[in-house]
Amino acid sequence: MSWDRQITIKTAQEIAIMRQAGWINAQALAAARAAAHVGASTADLNAAAEEVLRKHGVYSPFKNYPGPYPYPASTTISINDELVHGIPNPRRKLREGDIVSVDCGTVFEGFVADSAISFGVGQVSEAARRLLEVTEQALAAGVAQMKAGNRIGDVSAAIQQVAEGAGYYVTREYTGHGVGRAMHEGPQVPNYGVAGRGMLLRVGMTIALEPMVLVGTARTRVMPDQWTVCSADGSLTAHFEHSVAVTENGPLVLTLLEDPSQPGRK
Ligand code: MG
Ligand code: MG
Repeated sequence: MSWDRQITIKTAQEIAIMRQAGWINAQALAAARAAAHVGASTADLNAAAEEVLRKHGVYSPFKNYPGPYPYPASTTISINDELVHGIPNPRRKLREGDIVSVDCGTVFEGFVADSAISFGVGQVSEAARRLLEVTEQALAAGVAQMKAGNRIGDVSAAIQQVAEGAGYYVTREYTGHGVGRAMHEGPQVPNYGVAGRGMLLRVGMTIALEPMVLVGTARTRVMPDQWTVCSADGSLTAHFEHSVAVTENGPLVLTLLEDPSQPGRK
């Protein structure tokens, strides 16, 4: 993947706008999760997220995102071995024990928030539960490194250590990325790397970190729909994502399910 996109530094005011975008995005993800019952379709989950966006008068930058053909939905919903970019489908029904990843974006006042959650449907296997837990821990480890003066490699290595330390794999083919007025800005932030290497993190950078973790292989394949990315060996996968700002006070997660104007309120 070529990646020469611009890195933009945001003002405190712009970061405050991105927090609003992130809060709406978190609500959309929560609505999709709440709709995720056995027998519900992935299109139902997408509709639940879209309803939140509509209520706030915003839209998802996923819709019509350029690719093999314009992306047809506001979210991507990926089940089990599907790692990312699953297309919501009314015929795709959730089953007991599935693990579901929902990724959504929100454009609010010209700025984008991008975040994703993974969760189980009903009772999940111990293997699935552990994968979800480790992937979320990998994201937290990356977020903790989002400090001015650290380097991209510190973030990447922290994510990699948690995932590979648990015996899993991270994809080499898809990465985290800067986020701002565009959904995909520079820098590119892989889920693997060497601490102390790479670009310096500066106050005002905003980056979407997104560990994509696979149980059996780092390799992926793209399905015939040309969007959905699966593990090459059919093993389980999980994906968590937050948009995060580097601030003078350390990392600031922009995509929390908490009203930024009233901390503590959901
Ligand atoms: Mg995303
Ligand atoms: Mg992203």
